[in-house]
Formats: sequence, structure tokens, C-alpha cells
Amino acid sequence: MIDKIKALEKHSRLLNPGQAQRNAWDSAVWDYANTFIRHLNTTQSFFPSSKKEINSTHWNIGEAGISMEEILKTVVQNIDEVGLNPASAGHMGYIPGGGLYPAALGDYIAAVSNRYAGIFYTAPGAVRLENMLVRWMCRLMGYPETAIGNLTSGGSIANLVAIVTARESYPITAKDIPTAVVYISEQTHHSIQKAIRIAGLSEVQIRYVPLDEGLRISVPDLEKTIKEDIKHGLTPFFVVASLGTTNTGAIDPIAPIGKLAKKYGLWFHVDAAYGGFFKLVAAMAEKFQGVEMADSITLDPHKTLFLPFGSGTILIKEPKKLLKAHHYLADYMQDTLSANEEISPADISPELTKHFRGMRLWLPLKLFGLKPFRSALEEKLLLTQYFYGKVREWDSFEVGPEPELSVAMFRYLPRATDPNAFNKALIEDIKEDGRIFLSSTTIAGVFWIRVAIVIFRTHLAEVDLLLDIIQEKIRLRTL
Ligand SMILES: *Cc1c(COP(=O)(O)O)cnc(C)c1O
Repeated sequence: MIDKIKALEKHSRLLNPGQAQRNAWDSAVWDYANTFIRHLNTTQSFFPSSKKEINSTHWNIGEAGISMEEILKTVVQNIDEVGLNPASAGHMGYIPGGGLYPAALGDYIAAVSNRYAGIFYTAPGAVRLENMLVRWMCRLMGYPETAIGNLTSGGSIANLVAIVTARESYPITAKDIPTAVVYISEQTHHSIQKAIRIAGLSEVQIRYVPLDEGLRISVPDLEKTIKEDIKHGLTPFFVVASLGTTNTGAIDPIAPIGKLAKKYGLWFHVDAAYGGFFKLVAAMAEKFQGVEMADSITLDPHKTLFLPFGSGTILIKEPKKLLKAHHYLADYMQDTLSANEEISPADISPELTKHFRGMRLWLPLKLFGLKPFRSALEEKLLLTQYFYGKVREWDSFEVGPEPELSVAMFRYLPRATDPNAFNKALIEDIKEDGRIFLSSTTIAGVFWIRVAIVIFRTHLAEVDLLLDIIQEKIRLRTL
């Protein structure tokens, strides 16, 4: 047996390479990263997949390993150079990501040390750091010091945690589901409906509250709907205000919706996945009035704090409600209980073993300080107004509502052809060109092209390039 163990050990030791091997890998990966970042200004924002076959023949997992160089080659050719490039300055579709470089280093540190960040007992430093980040976000939103929250993998999971917490604390049990009512709008992010279904609440009544001309929830209509529902014996349960809709960046009237929620006893959720961190811009304070009334708030550092994907946050005003929905004590976890420990992520989220994702958030915030974040966010707001102002002046163009955040909508009005068909073709031209990536939306049957300026690498030059590209593509189409 000893011989067998020793023979196995010889091979299993390969999993723990020495410094020379680690350095060689590090330097190959660093070369890859530097080349990737250096080329971001000249590379495409979008690689149409029709133009390229993904060659995945080397991807199958075999008994023997291959070299780092071979691995990186397939990453570049078959992963990086197909589809959307969400790190590039020209990515102005959807709500873009970005991916601050020091956040990658934070991930590296977290993965190398592999702290067990789910439980205070096992990683008191890591858990305290994450709780500190949550408290920082709570303060930013005007929440009391007693509020808590959890760093999630994204906004969808944050919305799911919110709805599950609301369900457990209300509580909505099986018999209550068919008479419980959820109030959203046509512009609410679809992750809310998905969360309702995952939370076992598919049979609730969903009301789509009418919108005003700025595509914000109409508060009088919301109150009217709630009153009618009460009259019919239903239970108004949950209302969502979007602090920045993904589609158009419209901000629902936060304080008035909060007041109605209080008056009629609804759980008030603010989905600030896109807009939340614009609070860092002093001039935006007014738009956030009333956000502190929310029972729960979703934030998404992988959007407006420019982190790589995999960083969301849920904030909950009353800790006991989050605990009630998520706390569970297994017998084999009894060592982890102690009298004075801080709250552990495992007690307030669906996760147990988790990535120490606080590190990727904390590292860039500490390295840069807040000032460049505030400047970048204000710059994006102004770039959006600049773009909107230019297009509004152009002949034969129509623009959407005045941008409240960093999304603007426009469409070209051709003289003879159907505008929807023309703008669909126009956005295909822009995608095919690939330098700038835009997305589109349809509102009340009208096809709009959306420009969302969120990437930290996007500056005036890219917005001017976009304006040129739009003019150029229109010229080619209307020749
Ligand atoms: C992006 C977004 C979500 C979903 O967040 P993910 O991080 O993509 O899961 C939810 N709500 C709003 C308003 C969003 O913009």
C-alpha cells in the first residue's frame, strides 16, 4: 500500500507546482492580459459569430495536460474573438460591464488564499471585510446602521433574495399565493418575474401599473390599482420601483411609491441594479430621495462600479427578515457558533461555501479611492446628454425621453420606408461594422436603438466615433 501511495503522490504532486513553474504560467497570463488590454482601443466591440467558426476541438478534457501557451491561444481565438467584447470602450449595448483590472487581481488574491468567506468563524477577516462593504453601500443608500445585506453574484440573485425574504416575512404561504398581488411595470427588469417564479409564487396576481410619458410608474394609477385590489379581497404584497430601468434609464418616483407601500402595507423593493451607484454623483441626490424607505435594495457593482461580472448586492433594512428567510443551522456546523460573532454570509443568503467576492470590490475601491469613480459616473451621465443633444438636432431623427441616467434612445425616420424595418437594418449595419456595439428595444410597437454609456473606458472620442458611424451608415442606406 505504501508503494501505491507513493506512486500516486508522485502524480498528485503535479497539482502543487513550484515557483519556477508558477512564474512561467504567471508571465504567460500577464502577457495575455497586457495584449488584451493594449488592443482594446483597436479591436472590435462585437465579432459577428457568423464570421467565425468556434474551433473547440482542443477543449475536451483528457488524461494529459497541455501547455499554458496552447490554452491561451484557444482562449484568444475561440473565446475572446467571438461575440461581444464587454471590456471594450465601444460596448454601448444593454447595460455594459467593463471589468476594472485591479478587481481581477482581487479575484486572484481571493482564489490563491481561498479564504472560507461563508462563515465568520472560519474567515473573520474576510467576512468582516464583506460586511463592511455592505455597510458602506447601506450608508450610501441612506439605510440605518442596523441594515444588512449580502454580496451576491449579480442583480438577478439579489432580486431573488429580496422576493424570498418578502415572502417569508410577510408571510405569503401556499394558501395566500392566489390572492397576493405584486405591482411592477412593463419596464421592470424581467429578473423580477423570473424570481417570482423561482420563489414558487407563479400564481400571484401581477399588475402592470401604467406608465407616464417618461416611462415611469404612474403613482395615481398605482394607488387606484391597489385600492381596487383591496376592494376585491386581494392582498397587495410587493411593489418594485426601478431606480433606473434597464431599457431607458427612467427612474420611477421612489418616495411617492414608498409612501404608498407604507400606507397599504406592501413590501417596497427598489431595483437599483443599474442606477444605484450614480448616488456617488452629488448632483443625483434628488433622484434618490426616498430610497431609504425601501425594505430591500438591489445594487450591481458589476454595472455601475465597473467590476467584472459576478458582483451584485442585496441590501435589506431589517436584519431579522433576511435571517428568517435564510438562516439554517446544520449539526455539523455547531463549532461555528459563538456568542459575539458577526453575521455570516451563510446565514443570510442561499450560499454556504462561496467565493470571497468582497476582495474584488474592496481592492479597486481602496487602490483608487472614490474620487475617480464619482468622476467616471458623472462623465458617463454627461456623455449621454451630449450624445442625446447631438442626435436631437439632426434632421429626420427622433429621440426618446430626456435621459435621466446614461441610456439614450433614438431612431431614424426615413422618408419612404417603414421606420421599424429601417432602424432594424441600421442597427445590423452598426453591429456588422463592429467598432461600436448597440442594442435595441421596442416600446409600444416602436423600434428604438439604445445607447447605454456605462463602461469606464468609454470617453468622448468613442461617443464622437458613434455619432460618425451613425451618420455614415445612414448615408450608405439612403444613397
Ligand atoms: C441588470 C439588471 C438586473 C439583473 O442583474 P444581473 O446582474 O444581470 O443578474 C436587474 N435589474 C435591473 C434594473 C438591471 O439593470
